[in-house]
Amino acid sequence: MKAFELEASMKRWLCTVCGYIHEGETPPDTCPRCGAPKEKFVLMQDQDKSMKTAHEAQLKAGADQTESVPKSEASPPSENVVDVIVVGSGAAAFSAAITAVNEGCSVIMLEKAPQIGGTTIRSGGGFWTPNNKFQRARGVKEDRVQTMKYMARYSFPHLYRPELENFGLPENEYQLIEAMVDHAAEMTEYFEGIGAFELCEEINWAGKPQVDYQDHLPENGSVRGRCLYTKDTNGKIGYGYVLVSYLKAWAEKNHIPILVDHEVKRIRRDTSGKVVGVEALHEGKTIVFTASKGVIFGSGGFSHNPELLLHFEKGPIFGTCSAPTNTGDFISLAGEIGAKIGNMGGAFRAQSVFEIALANQMGIYNVFFVPGDSVLEVNKFGKRVMDEKRNYSDRGMVHFVWDPNRAEWTNMLLFLVYDSRTADLWQGYPPYPEGVEDAPYIIKVDKLEDFSNAIATRLSQLADHTGGFSLDEQFNANLVDTVAKFNQYAASGKDEDFQRGDFAYDREWTTFPPTKPGAGAWPADMDKNYTMHPLDDAGPYYCIILSSGTLDTNGGPVINKHSQVLDVHGEIIEGLYGAGNCIASPTANAYWGAGSTIGPALTFGYIAGRHVSGHPV
Ligand SMILES: Cc1cc2nc3c(=O)[nH]c(=O)nc-3n(C[C@H](O)[C@H](O)[C@H](O)COP(=O)(O)OP(=O)(O)OC[C@H]3O[C@@H](n4cnc5c(N)ncnc54)[C@H](O)[C@@H]3O)c2cc1C
Repeated sequence: MKAFELEASMKRWLCTVCGYIHEGETPPDTCPRCGAPKEKFVLMQDQDKSMKTAHEAQLKAGADQTESVPKSEASPPSENVVDVIVVGSGAAAFSAAITAVNEGCSVIMLEKAPQIGGTTIRSGGGFWTPNNKFQRARGVKEDRVQTMKYMARYSFPHLYRPELENFGLPENEYQLIEAMVDHAAEMTEYFEGIGAFELCEEINWAGKPQVDYQDHLPENGSVRGRCLYTKDTNGKIGYGYVLVSYLKAWAEKNHIPILVDHEVKRIRRDTSGKVVGVEALHEGKTIVFTASKGVIFGSGGFSHNPELLLHFEKGPIFGTCSAPTNTGDFISLAGEIGAKIGNMGGAFRAQSVFEIALANQMGIYNVFFVPGDSVLEVNKFGKRVMDEKRNYSDRGMVHFVWDPNRAEWTNMLLFLVYDSRTADLWQGYPPYPEGVEDAPYIIKVDKLEDFSNAIATRLSQLADHTGGFSLDEQFNANLVDTVAKFNQYAASGKDEDFQRGDFAYDREWTTFPPTKPGAGAWPADMDKNYTMHPLDDAGPYYCIILSSGTLDTNGGPVINKHSQVLDVHGEIIEGLYGAGNCIASPTANAYWGAGSTIGPALTFGYIAGRHVSGHPV
């Protein structure tokens, strides 16, 4: 039995951009998942309400999305022979295709899904861009080496030695970081220069450009403003669908055919081993596409491939918000022709609402931020395990702690515990529903001591999905102590266990003003640690079960600094390129700052497009 069943009587609104389902009398002003405006929501009809999986929702969203982002009018070339084939239609693929066309190549894009945009169209649309034009205009002078040190330190903490050549990193890993630093800003200005998009920077609610996700590391230097967005029609930051709309518009204007429902199934090579095309499946038929210069993959990660997740990820993964068609196809396609595969334990991560992840495999409700102040997370022992205000990707990693005595994943599930204050003031911001208690995945109790029974009952209903994961018998006693200690830290403003609130990231990114209209001035005191507030003395209290999920995985074929795929011996596979989440990501384990996935996807797509056309960066 699933603990999470959708309420039949509630009005349900489908975001036609990303498939998010909102329950309530009216649609939200903006989609909490992808940022699409209210107008993008449609009221789900009775037959839609019976949709049991978000896969169906996604397909419907896809159909509607195809209407709102019209398919390319350009018809495919009759002989299917071009200079460059690009696989996918997300950030990496569009970046590569647009660059190659602008550098004089003929290009065709092949997309497996019935609609374009991949995970990118569902995203926040930000791209991490060190040393960008807005920073320079403000007089911020980034030290290139310092930026690389930050990236190297965060991505490879176990290798990082600043005094050594390449900071202790292997040559290729170092060069990828170097390529990112040297060409990210160049890429954004290139695209702006050719009219592919207009740039915009984000100023946060505290009136400042944003910091990175590990702003307090000495290598970071608390630099601000590295994440850029495209500008929407109101001059504000545009989310993923705005980015994709821009790129698609440029592609259409420049006659790049984008063939949807074309799943690339094989890479073709000539007798010398050079990649010269692909085979794609369309309406049950195999179609051959030939490329005289090369093939560039931007086909996303493998979050929707349970077998690859099981074999390669660091621990149990429940849920992803990536496009349902992202099944890691590039890994087997390139593996078949001898590509070196790397970073397969990697992912851009987030915690997910466990019960939604189970009920709704294709449209996951990731917990990017833990909103509110009177809120904490505990494990099966009722103990806190981290600073709950850390970034989503790093929080996702905390679930993979192994208990050597019990031989189990101690933190496989974590428990988000909060009180009425947070439930009320931040209602409507995921994972808190509008209406405070109005979601079946919420466990409500009157007293903290009631949690262990209530959670145990819920866990027993979910046992088939967890291997019988259960609470420790000390959970209640520890939870009461944990909350008492948390309240003490909140009162003193000093989290002596996990330093919550000590970092600008905690204060500005993930702790933000209440969503409830008229909630009054907040925070009461900007100089105090407003990321923490004591939980109410009396209930009700609430709990949401969290698990580790992904935005998407980021392992796959290894590329070099030109985005060329390498073989198992480290040699270049001529004519084969990759960028984005389908390759072994230059970021490895890190999430450098907002836009840490789309930034590299766009940058290495651009680098590939330049190289394949004979005009390398
Ligand atoms: C809600 C949300 C918010 C996010 N916000 C941000 C953000 O602000 N900044 C950021 O950096 N990241 C963000 N992310 C993550 C980001 O969206 C992705 O990491 C990024 O868009 C991946 O881009 P990509 O080009 O590698 O792949 P995708 O955009 O996933 O595109 C891959 C495409 O390849 C296609 N494909 C797969 N296999 C084949 C095949 N065999 N043949 C043909 N086509 C194929 C897929 O159908 C898909 O369309 C967010 C994600 C979500 C869901």
